[in-house]
Amino acid sequence: MLRKELEIATFGDLLYHYPYRYFDRTKVDKVAAINANTEYVQLLGTIINIFEEGEGRKKRLVATFYDDTGQIELIWFQGAQWMKKSLVDHGRYILFGKVSFFNSAPNIAHPEIEPLNSETTIPGMQPVYSTTEKLRAKGISNRSFAKITQSLFEKIKQGDIPEILPPYLLSQYQLCNRYNAIKWIHFPDSEEQMQAARYRLKWEELLASQLKIAQLRLQHTVQQGWKFDKVGDNFNGFYNHHLPFQLTGAQKRVLKEIRVDTATGKQMNRLLQGDVGSGKTMVAVMSMLLAMDNGFQACLMAPTEILAQQHYQSVRELLAPMNIQVAILTGSTKGKERKETLAGLQDGSISIVVGTHALLEDTVVFNNLGMAIIDEQHRFGVAQRSRLWKKNSTPPHVLVMTATPIPRTLAMTLYGDLDVSVIDELPPGRQEIKTVHRNEMRRANVMDFIKNEINKGRQAYIVYPLIEESEKMDYESLMAGFEQVKVFFPEHKYNIAMVHGRQDAAERERNMQRFISGNAHILVATTVIEVGVNVPNASVMLIESAERFGLSQLHQLRGRVGRGAEQSYCILLTGNKLSNESAERMKIMTSTSNGFVIAEKDLAMRGPGDLSGTRQSGLLKFKLADIVDDSAILEQTRIAAQQIISNDPSLTNPQHTGIRNILLQEKVANNWAKIS
Ligand code: ADP
Ligand code: MG
Repeated sequence: MLRKELEIATFGDLLYHYPYRYFDRTKVDKVAAINANTEYVQLLGTIINIFEEGEGRKKRLVATFYDDTGQIELIWFQGAQWMKKSLVDHGRYILFGKVSFFNSAPNIAHPEIEPLNSETTIPGMQPVYSTTEKLRAKGISNRSFAKITQSLFEKIKQGDIPEILPPYLLSQYQLCNRYNAIKWIHFPDSEEQMQAARYRLKWEELLASQLKIAQLRLQHTVQQGWKFDKVGDNFNGFYNHHLPFQLTGAQKRVLKEIRVDTATGKQMNRLLQGDVGSGKTMVAVMSMLLAMDNGFQACLMAPTEILAQQHYQSVRELLAPMNIQVAILTGSTKGKERKETLAGLQDGSISIVVGTHALLEDTVVFNNLGMAIIDEQHRFGVAQRSRLWKKNSTPPHVLVMTATPIPRTLAMTLYGDLDVSVIDELPPGRQEIKTVHRNEMRRANVMDFIKNEINKGRQAYIVYPLIEESEKMDYESLMAGFEQVKVFFPEHKYNIAMVHGRQDAAERERNMQRFISGNAHILVATTVIEVGVNVPNASVMLIESAERFGLSQLHQLRGRVGRGAEQSYCILLTGNKLSNESAERMKIMTSTSNGFVIAEKDLAMRGPGDLSGTRQSGLLKFKLADIVDDSAILEQTRIAAQQIISNDPSLTNPQHTGIRNILLQEKVANNWAKIS
């Protein structure tokens, strides 16, 4: 039962089933001090007026309890008979329970109650354990957990819970020992003990994860890779003669990082973070030219057909003057074209290929793949990425590009084993996107504004939220929205394209193309357009029901505009009544356009579990630690882990036996082994 409900199978597991909160029973409260904000109280006093009320199933036991300041009612809905027998009229008791109010008079239902005599002690901090409905129904309550664990602690000795951290860490970071930590987390005598215990156990948890990462990093740095020691005609020729604009300082710096990294003879595993519109494509193109200079092929992989097409077009245009063979390979590359592309990749006549995950198929054989670039990483699974490695005898260098800025703490946990490059500068001359928040009452104004922009020759996106739970509702609200848009923009004057998840790829593609080509004035869409689409003439983004989107998603959507020379606008349309949190999100969006700031706020507001792509990963599940709240510990453990691994890579020093064992046993962390 315990095993099935809470994965508790052994006494050991029970020790590690930590309380999630405590009742502070070190203090005794007074009845008179109870007010509307009071949650739990512990009272000392006398019980009187014990009697049963009601009939049949409504039968309950009530009593009055008083101390020297006032009185409160006690109620038992269950076990009334038994309670009635055991309670002594005018007896003195200590009780603990949750206060509720009925007709503005306080009462406590089912208090924990004990007679007061010479042996009674004040309980101290009382642990509260998570349990489930099923367990509770079987009588395994929070109290039973405490009792079992307590009796377990009566049997074990300090030696049964040996220390695993080396003494130098305990003293350097002032951590309590493991036995105390586990004992105190269940049964602290004071708030201080509880804090010390939690601190120590969080430390241990985060250290384990950081050690894993440090080890992986070490493995990467010894993984043989192709040595790109030349910068040749392709790279230099393009740089000197065919660059359509000056590179930004950030683009130059990142290219240099890539050049240094690929010249070491070790495999590059690099994450490139750059806000939407920061010019990652150019970095990709020049990295691929670098691969060619060293006699290798390169591929650029995008998450969708549309994006692959766009990349293909821009790469071809950029490289047009250079006589370089660029091919595209996606699910819809068929027949003769597919055959030729596959042959060209195999014999090496195609140097650069752009595609979707069709590139990962076994039929795609490269002559000599040296550089694999993955755009918008969060749509690709970890397993898919690792298949790229198998495309050459020595794995290609891997550059993962993302426009989802990852807060530092999260990056340390998720991508701690990758090197990170950041483009933190937008190309010059970009105008800031003007972002405003409007409510439903202003809809007509908003539509007039959009009409005005369209009449000036621009295009607009109108985006509807996607509620994962109900595809049908999404579809219906999109259709309703579409009808509404048509009222404002009559079809004989305006062309409206629509894309959504229910269309097949070809239809979606067709509609998208109508917008990209400038044929359609308005694109009505669900969030399928979130990633990467580039339509410089689109200067207005209207986000419907904006309160239903998360911050990072709003930021991604907004990044679809502001790509051309015109002033761009993002309008967040919401209902009239907003929760505080939604209002806060709107405020953040209208006050900053910095993706990193937004990502930090998003993480703080929502917690890491919700960030895109990380939800299923299980990487961020710690028992106690929280990567936002405990970022100070995270930082300490990262430094400690790096020191440990650099001094003792395989943890053979006897001082490290304890931590080596944890790493060996760790069940949780295994799936992060192949992040790249
Ligand atoms: P993202 O990082 O979102 O993929 P893109 O690579 O699509 O950004 O670049 C966005 C736009 O900025 C493109 O139109 C591109 O041509 C342009 N661009 C990129 N780098 C520069 C630069 N250094 N100077 C001017 N424009 C640039
Ligand atoms: Mg891009």
